Amino acid sequence: MEATFSQFYKRTPEQRLAILAETLGLSEAEQQILKHRATQGDAPLLIENYLTTYQLPEGVAVNLRVNDHEYVVPMVTEEPSVIAAASNGAKQLAKAGGITATVHSRLLTGQVVLSDVKVYASIDDWIALHQNELLEVAKQAHPSIVKRGGGPKSIRTRDLGEGFVSIDLVVDVKAAMGANMMNTMLEAIAGVVQNKLHHTTLFSILSNAGDQSLTTATVSVPVSQLADQADKAQQVGKRIAQASRIARLDPMRAVTHNKGIMNGVDAVVVAMGNDWRAIESAAHAYAVTDGQYRGLSQWQLEDDQLTGTLTLPLPIGIVGGATKVLPLVAINQKMAKINSPEDLMKLIAAVGLAQNFAALKALVTNGIQQGHMKMQMRSLAMSVGATPSEVSVLTKQLSNTDDPNEAQARQLLSQIRN
Ligand code: NDP
Repeated sequence: MEATFSQFYKRTPEQRLAILAETLGLSEAEQQILKHRATQGDAPLLIENYLTTYQLPEGVAVNLRVNDHEYVVPMVTEEPSVIAAASNGAKQLAKAGGITATVHSRLLTGQVVLSDVKVYASIDDWIALHQNELLEVAKQAHPSIVKRGGGPKSIRTRDLGEGFVSIDLVVDVKAAMGANMMNTMLEAIAGVVQNKLHHTTLFSILSNAGDQSLTTATVSVPVSQLADQADKAQQVGKRIAQASRIARLDPMRAVTHNKGIMNGVDAVVVAMGNDWRAIESAAHAYAVTDGQYRGLSQWQLEDDQLTGTLTLPLPIGIVGGATKVLPLVAINQKMAKINSPEDLMKLIAAVGLAQNFAALKALVTNGIQQGHMKMQMRSLAMSVGATPSEVSVLTKQLSNTDDPNEAQARQLLSQIRN
């Protein structure tokens, strides 16, 4: 096996496919599928051992109103109900006047970590004394970001205990996510620490905490808008507030509450060519800020208004990484009217809030399944091989059965075909 994959990274995608087909027994039909995936831009050069392009559906959420502007939001997701729910939530929130979104700050932190430190104060004092020199070293390591008006801003130390010390560098990364430029600067600082402080460093890397790139989305919905009758509307408002409270109290529920928010967040982050693992890590770390994992959003009922707030760490970029490599990203940025990273941060937070509103409202009224099942039936129909013209008929028939499953779907499909 080792010989088979020797120098695999140097082969063309066609050669890699031939090796895999032989080694793993891929059929001719399977090979054709892998071959015929349209490649996007320079995607083959973006990763190691490129084979094919994996496609996910992209759609747009509509009706989103943020800071008095209307947005069409490109979203990439494989989950059938996500875009429908985002659009539905956005529509209801637009009717209430729309979402207000604010970016608190946009900075990135990185760490140079030292181990086996005997006296923390000696490191802390040295860094404090040499901070200007170290900031200058960081600037010289990536001067182009300084020319763009950004660059290193501050440096400090933290005692992590057990002999570990973190030297934290804060950088204004302008329109980029900034991972690579940060890592370059950190490694330059680590070099100085090793040469002048004579202390070896353990590692240098950005932190994905994202707590210096926070964005808040808020909305106020008149309770009267939540249902046709006043008493029912009041009930719905109260139940949404209670459901959000439970996510603050119970980590088990908070995980699911936050997954629903990330349904929308991730779909936009992927459409914008960003690193969604970074955003996921940051969001879940932020959810446990006070020591307990909690829901990221809060909904409160006061004076006949249901007010929702969502704060998220969103260290995204609109340049760099895959953003200029995948051609769809530029089109998606254009459709969503993204001209700055702050625009994108606000949009993502607003989508998260709209998604959350739609999920909570469905959850405390008709239940989540009613909206979901229609979309799930469509997936089930496709999964058993229904052609586009058969999908709608089969979906309707599946919706009318009590407990639709794969065997039933196959049986109904063969009846349709006979
Ligand atoms: P890049 O390495 O692509 O750097 C950003 C690029 O954008 C630079 O080349 C910069 O040019 C250019 N640029 C153009 N205009 C601007 C502007 N207005 N502001 C800032 N930069 C501009 O990407 P990042 O440093 O952003 O790193 C992101 C990538 O790193 C992602 O792919 C991510 O997955 C990956 N990564 C993530 C890690 C993590 O999250 N832990 C770890 C390591 C990598 P110039 O150099 O001329 O300034």
